[in-house]
Amino acid sequence: SYRDDPFTPVVARPPVTDDVDVVVVGGGIAGVLAGANLRRAGIERIRIVDQAGGIGGTWYWNRYPGVMCDVESYIYLPMLEELDYVPTHRYASGEEIRTHLEAIAERHGLVDDALFHTGVDRAEWDDESGRWEIHTDRGDRLRSRYYVLAVGILNLMKLPAISGMEEFSGHSFHTARWDYRYTGGAPGRPLTELGDKSVALVGTGATGIQCLPALAEAARHVFVFQRTPSAVGVRGNRATEPDFSESLSPGWQRDRMDNFQAVMLGKPVEVDLTDDGWTHHYAAVQHPPRHKGMSIEDYMRGAEELDYGIMEEHRRRVEELVADPATAEVLKPYYRYLCKRPCFHDEYLQAFNEPNVTLVDCPAGIDRITERGPVVGGHQYDIDCIVYGTGFEAELTPLYRRAGHEIVGRGGVSLAEKWADGASTLFGMMSRGFPNLFVMPAPGQQAVVTVNYTQLAVLGAEFVGRTVATLERLEVQAFDVSAEAEAEWSQKIIDS
Ligand code: NAP
Repeated sequence: SYRDDPFTPVVARPPVTDDVDVVVVGGGIAGVLAGANLRRAGIERIRIVDQAGGIGGTWYWNRYPGVMCDVESYIYLPMLEELDYVPTHRYASGEEIRTHLEAIAERHGLVDDALFHTGVDRAEWDDESGRWEIHTDRGDRLRSRYYVLAVGILNLMKLPAISGMEEFSGHSFHTARWDYRYTGGAPGRPLTELGDKSVALVGTGATGIQCLPALAEAARHVFVFQRTPSAVGVRGNRATEPDFSESLSPGWQRDRMDNFQAVMLGKPVEVDLTDDGWTHHYAAVQHPPRHKGMSIEDYMRGAEELDYGIMEEHRRRVEELVADPATAEVLKPYYRYLCKRPCFHDEYLQAFNEPNVTLVDCPAGIDRITERGPVVGGHQYDIDCIVYGTGFEAELTPLYRRAGHEIVGRGGVSLAEKWADGASTLFGMMSRGFPNLFVMPAPGQQAVVTVNYTQLAVLGAEFVGRTVATLERLEVQAFDVSAEAEAEWSQKIIDS
């Protein structure tokens, strides 16, 4: 039941049997962009298949109060120029991102043929027909010339295995399935039904910190169960300047994405256009100062000092914003900057000054959960609702597990079998023995990765669109990666 879709009712439909040009698994950023670029390439019959009830991927599921993207909206929302859209704020809300992805999908005619609330059970390449044969959990049998896996990196929710959690008699849900029927309200609006409720928030990662302020505002009491404190840097969100778009010339979004990337890669730039926590702290820690002739000891010391300075800044911020010194002490991140995914927020720390918010420090986790709620250090907390902000399976979860179905290529060999000892690909997007298959870039599959996932999706989708356009022009029925190309790419990955 933790997986059920609280946002869109599942509607019965007869199974679909058909033959299309492309099946794209996943209707999030990567899938929508792949679809849009395939349309540009002149491909007509495109079917997106997604377990969600609509477009958006991670932004479909994650609708918890306060959900926003930490990457600047002007480089995170794709196709801004094409859709002539200017994000309302420097950092966009989940609703704005999801609505924008829907607009891209609508613009490119990807919605009407999509099969939502549908999971793929199995996909197998058939050499004879030159088709992928795809079976779904709704009884569909799809055949397609190309198969695009755009399954995302945050699609497998993680619930902690806390002993007794199934005995809890109150309500509970994961942040990726926020239950507004229980909490009242809607994304961006106050939670109206929590005034008499005691809420436990488990998890203080990028998600937990974003939903605390709304919970603090609405609930009778919120207990925040923290295992490890996050480093919470300045967010500095603000409305987009009215004259922002006037300053832009064609190609500005790509230039801005490249500018961000250059800063993150430690390359010299005239101006840091994004100018935020990622480009200040993250980039700095990735590229500590070094000069010719420097000893490794001096380099390491310099790196540590730089890191320590940044973490001290974060610890001072906690001291400045949290009134109670004992609470502040526990909220201070005590590790090096990249030990945990850095966070950015301007209201999270202040929420601990509210009388209805209590921080429960539990470095070893919650002892157990009883019918009444969590127990920590022998203390029983009486709770009406547990919100699990406990994240997702790590990004490095193998693709075939994230995809959730068997992908079978030539000679009956599955991708799981082929990649048993690690991925083997060309560009992290195609793999020998799996003809006409594209995998959108993601970590752990020899693909290029970066903090701005959207840029990867943009580049990956353009590659898919252009490659398919070329194959169509040359009337190629089935392409495969040569053994040499795959070996060369793998070697390149190992070398770098
Ligand atoms: P997360 O970073 O994995 O954090 C999960 C939290 O749950 C951590 O605080 C973790 O504690 C805690 N936890 C896990 N198991 C627990 C247990 N048994 N008992 C107590 N606490 C437990 O998950 P997330 O916050 O959902 O973020 C996941 C990823 O989503 C991020 O890395 C980011 O890439 C993305 N994200 C981005 C944004 C954004 O752009 N604004 C927002 C949300 C999410 P420990 O730290 O001790 O493990």
